[in-house]
Amino acid sequence: MTPEQFRQHGHEVVDWIADYWTRIGSFPVRSQVSPGDVRAALPASPPEQGEPISAVLADLERVVLPGVTHWQHPGFFGYFPANTSGPSVLGDLVSAGLGVQGMSWVTSPAATELEQHVMDWFAGLLRLPETFLSTSTGGGVVQDSSSGANLVALLAALHRASKGGTVRHGVDPDRALVYVSAETHSSMEKAARIAGLGSDAVRIVEVDGDLAMRPASLKARLERDTARGFTPVLVCATVGTTSTTAIDPLAELGPICREAGVWLHVDAAYAGVSGVVPELRELQAGVEWADSYTTDAHKWLLTGFDATLFWVADRAALTGALSILPEYLRNAATEAGAVVDYRDWQIELGRRFRALKLWFVLRWYGAEGLREHIRGDVALAQEFAALVDADDRFDVVTKHPFSLVCLKPRWAGDVDADVATMTLLERLNDGGEVFLTHTTVGGQPVLRVAIGTPATTREHVDRLWALLCENHDWLANDFAE
Ligand code: PLP
Repeated sequence: MTPEQFRQHGHEVVDWIADYWTRIGSFPVRSQVSPGDVRAALPASPPEQGEPISAVLADLERVVLPGVTHWQHPGFFGYFPANTSGPSVLGDLVSAGLGVQGMSWVTSPAATELEQHVMDWFAGLLRLPETFLSTSTGGGVVQDSSSGANLVALLAALHRASKGGTVRHGVDPDRALVYVSAETHSSMEKAARIAGLGSDAVRIVEVDGDLAMRPASLKARLERDTARGFTPVLVCATVGTTSTTAIDPLAELGPICREAGVWLHVDAAYAGVSGVVPELRELQAGVEWADSYTTDAHKWLLTGFDATLFWVADRAALTGALSILPEYLRNAATEAGAVVDYRDWQIELGRRFRALKLWFVLRWYGAEGLREHIRGDVALAQEFAALVDADDRFDVVTKHPFSLVCLKPRWAGDVDADVATMTLLERLNDGGEVFLTHTTVGGQPVLRVAIGTPATTREHVDRLWALLCENHDWLANDFAE
């Protein structure tokens, strides 16, 4: 494809995306295909001869779109949002066009330095501790996901616990322990497995009535395990748990971790970005105790996947765990110690120029635009929760400080409430106008309404509420018959 052909087809593809965003509300939110439908619509063999982009665009419509769940649909309230935006897509397009591999500073200095700078900007916007700045002892890096960031944090913590050795030569992998709660994201357990820790390495600390980790339980477990000869390595505290957005009390957990010499990792994958809004920062009080911190711009901050913002307070622990310098990567800038080589801050060697999309997003919206986005969603969630709370057909189940509301329908008579709740969810999702997901609280299913898709407005939330009420009434009648 020549640059001129690229220009022409690039315009067509950008038009296609803009048209998709314009008509997105006309699609059923959840894909309605059955397993195997998409593959059945594809030819068995790849094309022998090249085809025009128009043919590919035609198949995007015919084959791909029916198999897409429309995460950018204004009626998408499932899981956590996976934001994208025009500036994010354009930044990614430039990154793709430059085709830079930014593994080392020398392989493209701007890829490293723009990332350092943007991460420092974000650290400031989120009011993270000064130690996280590249100008201090720490620094930030863009990772592919918070799951990856959780693994990297654990590797850095193991490096520190082994006093500079490796897991094998420093801390005994069968004695190293990681502390989570039952609400912690499953990626932390996966990280422990990948890091080669023992099968019982993950200790589950009790939670309180708000599903937040109990500091006293953590302290008692740390003391007991240490007395038994184990090495507590990392505590993972969550700000905004995946299930219900519970908040572990950082200000109380921090001093306990510090006293025990344990690495405190804060997983704020979804909720951390709310720190751009001053009045929401109190929810992360105590973040200054963190040794590392992760939050995803690709969830709720108008940036397309993948854009995990990850910081450490002591970059030496991270690079000590992950740096390897083979001969073929040696260069003067690295040898002089004058630069950051981000390949030493992540699992993979190669890396995309992801800072570009963050830079585009920040420059297009400005800090104030990001605040407006988060504030708007939190306000909608609070209004929605008030509607639910005031209605005797539903209960709000958990606290809802961010933009997720968990609710449980009430059912009269001897109806199996769990079955009825899941039936309500399926009816709503089958309807195509909205999409929600569920979790369990206290062993019972509850509906999660995650507000945060950029296109969602009050009108869409009102429509969701109307659909919830209508379908609840219809089902309640149906069960009564
Ligand atoms: N941590 C928490 C608290 C999450 O909620 C999630 C995903 O929802 C993750 C980690 C994993 O995030 P990612 O999809 O970026 O790996």
